[in-house]
Amino acid sequence: MKVQSPLEVYNYLPGTNCKECGEETCMAFASKLIDRSKSLDLCKEILDDSYKEEYEKLKEMLSPEIKEIIIGIGDKAVHVGGEDVLYRHQLTFYNQPPFAYDVTDVMDEKEITERVNFVSNYKKFYVGSFLRLDMIAIRSVSDDPKKFAECVKKVKDLTELPLILMSFNPDVLEAGLEVVKDKRPLVYAANEDNWQKVAELIDKYKVPVVLFSPDLDKLASLAKTFVEMGMNELILDPGTYPSGKQLMSTFERFIKLRRSAIKDGNKDVAFPIIGIPAIASLVSKGKDELEQAISESILTILETIKYGDLLVFHNIAPYVILPAIHLRFNIYTDPRSPVRVEPGLFEMGTPDENSPLFLTTNFALTYFTVKSDLESNNINSYLLVVDSDGICVEASVAGGQLNPGKIKEAIEATKAKEKIKHNTLVLPGLAARLSGSTEDETGMKVLVGPTDSGRIAKWMEDHWQTKA
Ligand code: SF4
Repeated sequence: MKVQSPLEVYNYLPGTNCKECGEETCMAFASKLIDRSKSLDLCKEILDDSYKEEYEKLKEMLSPEIKEIIIGIGDKAVHVGGEDVLYRHQLTFYNQPPFAYDVTDVMDEKEITERVNFVSNYKKFYVGSFLRLDMIAIRSVSDDPKKFAECVKKVKDLTELPLILMSFNPDVLEAGLEVVKDKRPLVYAANEDNWQKVAELIDKYKVPVVLFSPDLDKLASLAKTFVEMGMNELILDPGTYPSGKQLMSTFERFIKLRRSAIKDGNKDVAFPIIGIPAIASLVSKGKDELEQAISESILTILETIKYGDLLVFHNIAPYVILPAIHLRFNIYTDPRSPVRVEPGLFEMGTPDENSPLFLTTNFALTYFTVKSDLESNNINSYLLVVDSDGICVEASVAGGQLNPGKIKEAIEATKAKEKIKHNTLVLPGLAARLSGSTEDETGMKVLVGPTDSGRIAKWMEDHWQTKA
């Protein structure tokens, strides 16, 4: 995106403050366009012919440096690429790389069904949300169009996840495309040998395509050719190689491509990059299982950090998946907005009117730590979670996001006082300095709890029997 300030965007908006976009003013809408929480088409006025020039200019200004490609349809569709920066601390990364897992057209029906169901149903709870897997990559091993089409049909009947059709044989690709042409699959791949035939398919089926070449000049030239032919939904594969010097050169090519697109403004390569960590397991068949897993994991780490926008895996062992999805989550969390949970009053265990009422903030890590400490110690209690803009206790006390006024509001909104008869609120130890002013503001007796919720059981022994 070529703009940083809302004013630059505002200058091209109609400026009537008509509110139809859902914002009070055009300037507020401009801010939402920059952080991508709203899209330009929500301003109906700018769609009018009289604003054609401004509309085109804004579209160009607001488009990300790396093109965003959508694969699949409906709720499960994935957004690939669309990034603006090389380093997350410069802004944020917007679209976490979808993780695809392979099946092949030589697997038997049982294995295909098990793998597809495993990937489709996988979920892991982590700081307030579920981490999931995103796509199925169908590889042609038989090189037989009929076999491939049958496999694609099986997978299509099993899942709504977006698909990648993988073969360098255009006849095989076409057989698969015929089966899922209404599902917007990704085609993998065109290379320097087959590109003309694959281009014909892409033109016919209007789907995104991967271009493959480990030679970056050839890759750029392929991309330029496709764009000149009117096809710009491209993803680039500079080649993934699992070991030795080739592993190092894999890493270098990913970095060179992204730097060239963002730092040097090279439009020919300003497309998402696909990485194939699955290669590690596929080329080392027969090797020790753990060795394969380690090799696939190393590629996953490298390509998640720099700069894979879509990754294809083979290994579905938990010790390969778990680190990968956690790494992705942490890299693609917006550093400008803390991970938060909904504020409110929550029951821990089976509390009654004599149970303690604890308070914490809605920073997700704090909330889940306190919740876990209360539950694992079987402390039946109420937990009042105050909206601190997702900031932890100590920082929100210092910054004023947690204050007696907010605490009073939260008590009233949740009717917390009506749940207990002792009229006592337990503040976290790190909010001790709010205790006096909170008593004044809320009319409740305030106790100061431990600074670490891990010591809450001991604190209960020392301070709470008297309340029951
Ligand atoms: S709809 Fe357009 S003109 Fe109206 S307030 Fe929003 S940005 Fe401004």
